[in-house]
Amino acid sequence: MRVLVIGSGGREHALCWALAASPLLTKMWCAPGNPGIAQVAECIPIGVLDFPALVAFAQDNAVDLVVPGPEAPLVAGVTDAMEAGGIACCGPSREAAQLEGSKTFTKELCDAAGIPTAHWERFDDAEAAREFIRRRGAPIVVKADGLAAGKGVVVAASEAAALAAIDDIMDARTFGEAGASVVIEECLVGDEISLFALCDGESALLLGSAQDHKRVGDGDTGPNTGGMGCYAPTPMFSPALEQAAMRGIVQPALAEMARRGTPFRGILYAGLMLTADGPKLIEFNVRFGDPECQVLLLRLKSDLLPALQAACDGELANFDLRWSDAAAIGVVMAARGYPEAPEHGSEIRGLAQAAAIQGVQVFHAGTEADTSGVIRAAGGRVLTVCATGATLVAARDAAYAAVGLIDWPEGFCRRDIGWRALAR
Ligand code: AMP
Repeated sequence: MRVLVIGSGGREHALCWALAASPLLTKMWCAPGNPGIAQVAECIPIGVLDFPALVAFAQDNAVDLVVPGPEAPLVAGVTDAMEAGGIACCGPSREAAQLEGSKTFTKELCDAAGIPTAHWERFDDAEAAREFIRRRGAPIVVKADGLAAGKGVVVAASEAAALAAIDDIMDARTFGEAGASVVIEECLVGDEISLFALCDGESALLLGSAQDHKRVGDGDTGPNTGGMGCYAPTPMFSPALEQAAMRGIVQPALAEMARRGTPFRGILYAGLMLTADGPKLIEFNVRFGDPECQVLLLRLKSDLLPALQAACDGELANFDLRWSDAAAIGVVMAARGYPEAPEHGSEIRGLAQAAAIQGVQVFHAGTEADTSGVIRAAGGRVLTVCATGATLVAARDAAYAAVGLIDWPEGFCRRDIGWRALAR
């Protein structure tokens, strides 16, 4: 099979790494890719939103399957564009990708399908939103309705913070048109978990779950980020709870999407809060998480490629995947200044030494190779240093040993990935 992966982050490096191991693979490209991905796939300089160029490339090169990594091309309709050009694409249609593109869409779907989630209300008018906040009081959660790169959410501990969020999102339009309306929600309390399922429109196959660390600083302090690290499996989310969430959240969502004539195919990511009343949905995303993808794929023993193909073909019902019993962890190394203003250009050394540690995989995200082949920081999140081990402690120790070998004074990472599990 000839495969085109779309994206350039750590998630896409992990996807390419896993697909490269498939005996079914004959050729793989990645658009636009990164220097880590270039070790396993041919990188082509096409942007993730340049659909005419992506479709033409796929046609000209007889691509059998397109695997989009990030949400932006999915929400913008890359699957529809590929299919219109006769190319199979393992992702949701633009309509189905609204599960991530619009918070209101998801909340209405939850209500229609009986999926447990936080009570919510939507406002187009800032004054009405403020009035609602004053009436409800804190804690309360304010969200920009559209796509805001995971940043348009304020979990407000005080009424003043919630009101300030309305100023920011609706008046100042800090997140652009994503802030034309807001969703205001009840604040859920519990452990937060990400659950992943591969879907073919009807059937869903569990890909596992992981716990992410969204805040930039140790002990979950500081501003929110795209994710600073994660681990799997999680002791707080037992296999029985996982199955309950598949039955009570993922399956009803798939059934409702199919009933509406917009079946969901691809990776469904359910962000869950494990409340005292059971798992409740915080949000759906329509793709793998980053860095969860890296950690989940390290535990996958089966061939990923036929699974993605089966999802595309509507043939997941009798499909099975085998998973390792090992624990896996991913530590994100970010450029100094992340998330506000990451510094670009610093040199990163020691990658080969780090990767030589038993059980370690280093995935590239925001890196670039200069003309002499030196790897430099070129983004906020720059590397995901991953490891597997017989226990979470062993995986963590291996990952941090690898971090210690990466010679990059201008980079930093959290030192406590996995702490909620290890504290038990
Ligand atoms: P979202 O973009 O909807 O995933 O929200 C980003 C983050 O805000 C989530 O990962 C949660 O940590 C937090 N969050 C969102 N909604 C709620 C809620 N209703 N209650 C508590 N925390 C929430």
